Amino acid sequence: MNDLQLDDVKSDENSAMVLLVDDQAMIGEAVRRGLALEQNIDFHFCADPHQAIAQAIRIKPTVILQDLVMPGLDGLTLVREYRNHPATQNIPIIVLSTKEDPLIKSAAFSAGANDYLVKLPDNIELVARIRYHSRSYMTLLQRDAAYRALRVSQQQLLDTNLVLQRLMNSDGLTGLSNRRHFDEYLELEWRRALREQTQLSLLMIDVDYFKSFNDTFGHLDGDEALRKVASAIRDASSRPSDLPARYGGEEFAIVLPNTSLGGARLVAEKLRMAVEAMNIPHISPAPGRCLTISIGLATMTPQPASNCRELISAADKGLYLAKKNGRNQVGIE
Ligand code: GH3
Ligand code: MG
Ligand code: MG
Repeated sequence: MNDLQLDDVKSDENSAMVLLVDDQAMIGEAVRRGLALEQNIDFHFCADPHQAIAQAIRIKPTVILQDLVMPGLDGLTLVREYRNHPATQNIPIIVLSTKEDPLIKSAAFSAGANDYLVKLPDNIELVARIRYHSRSYMTLLQRDAAYRALRVSQQQLLDTNLVLQRLMNSDGLTGLSNRRHFDEYLELEWRRALREQTQLSLLMIDVDYFKSFNDTFGHLDGDEALRKVASAIRDASSRPSDLPARYGGEEFAIVLPNTSLGGARLVAEKLRMAVEAMNIPHISPAPGRCLTISIGLATMTPQPASNCRELISAADKGLYLAKKNGRNQVGIE
């Protein structure tokens, strides 16, 4: 709601700000006198109906007393204008009429008035109605302000949770998913593939001769090399459902849902070449060589009573083969 903010109005819910719109100065004077001795009631008088909206926006009344018959502008039209203006749409309006007429009364209420009084009302009744409408308006503003604050803090909570979730799921060094998230995701995708009887592929990736890389260039350069390999792995995971992860140490993995053996082999081979093409100098297996990776690949369509550990184990065996056969290659059991 685009209404007056709670901070803008008096926070004491027993105080009222009255705006009387009436072309007759005499009525203005009479009401002023009637309210003069009342505690916490501020009174403003507007004799020009064309200034009524502007004045209402400025003084922020908690209740409007509106004359119906004025020269140049019909009071009912003005009531509708208050209702259409975002700054005044919820301010209670007490219509002041010259007579007790059911037709006028009905028109006033359907235009958006909240109450109807015949001029000049008895002062006790006028004050009682002003206080009643004003208090309910203040309560409305307080309720809306509380809701707004609640929505803001709910959003902040959601944002914080999102950040926490991301932190909880990601690896500090590389920004890829961590082992915890990898385990969850693989389990989830395994069950989905079982339900839908689709192929699930897994790449297990291990940096070749990395111990010797650390020993030669130091751990900081080692970390930097891991970050570079990780970014190649991230680039290789092209579909939104592909999940690149740091499995631990210098080992990485990519979960490839809905991917055949042929498709996974293409991804693996492209990744292997991409790391080689980064040309990170290394002294193993021989001086003048560059950093490479070995990849184990497995593809399965899960069967009932099976477990995703089977897929990890098969990919591990592929990795072992790749290492055994000379590294810098893709192995499939
Ligand atoms: P292989 O070709 O058979 O894979 O040999 P390797 O030397 O890569 O394998 P090994 O498992 O013997 O060594 C892995 C090394 O990876 C040892 C460890 O110090 C290093 N390592 C693991 N995690 C990190 C890390 O976060 N940062 C750095 N700099 N090194 C790491
Ligand atoms: Mg290793
Ligand atoms: Mg290694």
